[in-house]
Order: sequence, then C-alpha cells, then structure tokens
Amino acid sequence: MSGQSTPRGSCEQFLDRALNKLQIEPELGHLLRACYREVRFELPLKRDDGSIALYNGYRVQHDQSRGPFKGGLRFHPDVDMDHFVALATLMTWKCALLNLPFGGAKGGVDCDPADLSERELEILTKRLVERIAMMIGPDRDIPAPDMGTGPREMAWIVDAYAHQNGFTPGVVTGKPIQLGGSLGRVEATGRGVAQITALAAKAAGIDLQEATVAIQGCGNVGSHAARFLAERGARIVAISDAGGGRHDQDGLDIDKLIEQLNEGQRRQAFKNCDGGGAISNKDLLELEVDILVPAAVGNVISAENARQIAAGLIVEAANMPVDCEADAILRERGKTIVPDILANAGGVTVSYLEWVQNRQRYQWDEQQVNAELEQRLETAWQSVSARAEAEAVDLRLAAYMIAVERVKQAVDMRGF
Ligand code: NAD
Repeated sequence: MSGQSTPRGSCEQFLDRALNKLQIEPELGHLLRACYREVRFELPLKRDDGSIALYNGYRVQHDQSRGPFKGGLRFHPDVDMDHFVALATLMTWKCALLNLPFGGAKGGVDCDPADLSERELEILTKRLVERIAMMIGPDRDIPAPDMGTGPREMAWIVDAYAHQNGFTPGVVTGKPIQLGGSLGRVEATGRGVAQITALAAKAAGIDLQEATVAIQGCGNVGSHAARFLAERGARIVAISDAGGGRHDQDGLDIDKLIEQLNEGQRRQAFKNCDGGGAISNKDLLELEVDILVPAAVGNVISAENARQIAAGLIVEAANMPVDCEADAILRERGKTIVPDILANAGGVTVSYLEWVQNRQRYQWDEQQVNAELEQRLETAWQSVSARAEAEAVDLRLAAYMIAVERVKQAVDMRGF
C-alpha cells in the first residue's frame, strides 16, 4: 500500500489539494497539518475471568484555533495513532465547514467492545477518563460517541469526570437525555446523511423517489440514514453490518430488518435476518445502484475496487471510506462524491447544540433541534456546491477550501 492510501496519507493529500489551490505558503500549510497534541497511554483491565488485558488508549488534538477541541471516542480493535491523527484532522475541517466554534480531536481504545462485558466496558471507559481528565472539559476538549461507543459510554464519562470536577454535562456530547443529552442527537448523523443525500441527488438530477440506494453499515449512522432515506421515498436495496448484509433489488423492509437486528446478536446479526438474499460487504459496494452510502469503517473504497464502483453518487456517511487514490479514480470516472466532512456533519452539529443547551442549562424541544440542524446543513451544502461550481472543482476540494480558509483566518488573527 502506498503511504498516501493510509487514512493519514489520504487526509494529508486531501488537505494538500486545498492548500495548493488556495496558494497557502508551505510554513502555514505545515502548521495546519500538524497536530497540537498526540497522546497514547496504557489501559490495563482485569477481565471478568480474572485475566489481565492491556489496551492502548489514544487522544489526538489537532487544532483549537476556532474553539475547544471536539471529536469522538472510538472503541475498535483496528485503531492506531495514525487513524486518530487522520480523524482528528478531519474534525477540524468538519467543524470549520459547519461554522461550529470548535477545533478537531479524536481518540479511543483498541478494544473490541463486542468481546467485553458491560462491567468491563464501564471500567475501561472510566479508566480512559482518568488518563485524559486533564486534557478534556467543556472549554478544552469535548469527546462524543463514535464507532463502538454511544450514550451509555458518555454517561460513564460524565460520572468519572464529575468525581474531580463536579457535575459538568458539557464535558461530553451524545449523552442520554436524562444526563443533559440533546433530543435528536442519536439520529442526527443519519438524519443529516439523508438530507445531504437528497440535496446532492437533486443537484445530480437523480429523483430520490426513483433512486436505488445501497448502505454499508447498520450502526448508529447506517440504520438512521436508511430509515430517513426510506422515509424520503428512496428504495434501499442493500444494507450490511460487519458480517455481511441483505440485498433485494425491489427494496428491503428497513424497519423490519433493523428490528430483527436489534433483537439479534451484536455481531454478524444480518446472517440470521430474513428479508432479501445474503450479500457480502465487497459485493454491496459494487452493486448497480444510483446512490452508495458507505456508513461503517474507513478505507473501504481504494484503488483495488474503485473501478468496480457502479453508483454515480457516493455519499460518505462514514469517516474516510474513500481513500485518496480511489477518490482520484472515481473523479476521473465522473462519479460525484459528497465528502464526509459535509455528509456526516449532522452529528457534530447537534453535538454543538447539546453543548449550547448544557451551557444554558435549558433543554430545547426536538423540533427546534431538528430545524436548526436542517438549516445549518442546508447552508453548508449551498456554500460547498456554490464554491465547487465557481471554481470548477469537486465537492471535496470545495469543502476543504472553505474549511481551511476559515481555520487559517483564525490562526492569522490569533497570532503566533
Ligand atoms: P457503530 O459502531 O454504531 O456502527 C458501525 C457499523 O459498521 C456496524 O453496523 C458494524 O457492524 C459495521 N462494521 C464494522 N466493521 C465493519 C467492516 N469491516 N465492514 C463493514 N461493516 C462494518 O458506528 P457509527 O456511529 O454508526 O459510525 C459509523 C461511521 O460513521 C464511522 O466511520 C464513524 O466515524 C462515522 N461517524 C459517526 C458519527 C456518529 O454520530 N455516530 C458521526 C460522524 C461520523
């Protein structure tokens, strides 16, 4: 694999395209690429069976020029420092693109949550907070859920942080409602994916009511994106989880499938579902559909399979599902890619609204949250599509140009 097709390499290449186009001087470009802080630490855990397991924990803070660091915590066996550097950097551009007053961060643990009991996960999460407590806080760095974490883990973080600092709900977002979470946060990323997909489809001349859609991943993002897209009239013909998926060219009954999935085991549950035929994750990506929504892990579309992707519109619901080599191939093939920093920004947008509500000590109703989300995503979409048209560039480059310009302005204003 070339260095560029690692998540970090891809991220740097996407940034380099924007830096070149904006003609930003190399020293400043270096500053915009570099991380403020990269921390790795040991997380020992006494397992329920009495054995000792040792995990690696990470927190990477990329940039805080526009506000406190913000970014999720991922529990997944395949993470390493390079992953988190790439994901933290992405958060900086995402927050800037949505005009949220945050910088970018990311972190997590190289564990497989499906292998751990609830008790083990609670201990591990609270130990993680012990290690990063001095780096986080509502005005420093605000974690959130990502792959393998959700409201339950955020509640444990609130508890662990409160022991030293008193009850501080604004230290994390994506919390349960009873602990200061925002209505609408759980669905926000998928809701945003569906909205942005609808806008991109319209711009590409695709009638969503007639469109076929394949979705890789059926976790928080994939399941809600599927539901909201189905609600908008799209025909979801395939959906998967880590163990493979279901496919029916006439359309799947998404609500029924998700219901079965919730009742099934946490891992490879689609294998036991009825509805459609079985399909592998590889074949799902290459299906003859109008719209492809990768909503699981990164780097699933690379130089290896980019020439086999049939969909005309690819909406990056996951972070970095398309690497930089595949991005170039797909652009050359005339495909439209809606970049992650726009497509999945609904999550961090409602995280911002949650943080605002925590500071106000006031809960908004769900309608207000959803209306604000919709308006912010619409504004971001309009600015990206207008910039892409004005500069005759693809949507990713346009989105990066807007984001990098905003961060550069903040860096310039604050001085060195
Ligand atoms: P999740 O843990 O809820 O779900 C992940 C899904 O991906 C599951 O269905 C899992 O079975 C599947 N999966 C795991 N490994 C896979 C593999 N190798 N191949 C195919 N499928 C696989 O995670 P999530 O919160 O839905 O996040 C999904 C993606 O969206 C991640 O890239 C994450 O960074 C990104 N994202 C999430 C949010 C959010 O609010 N949750 C916000 C922005 C971006």
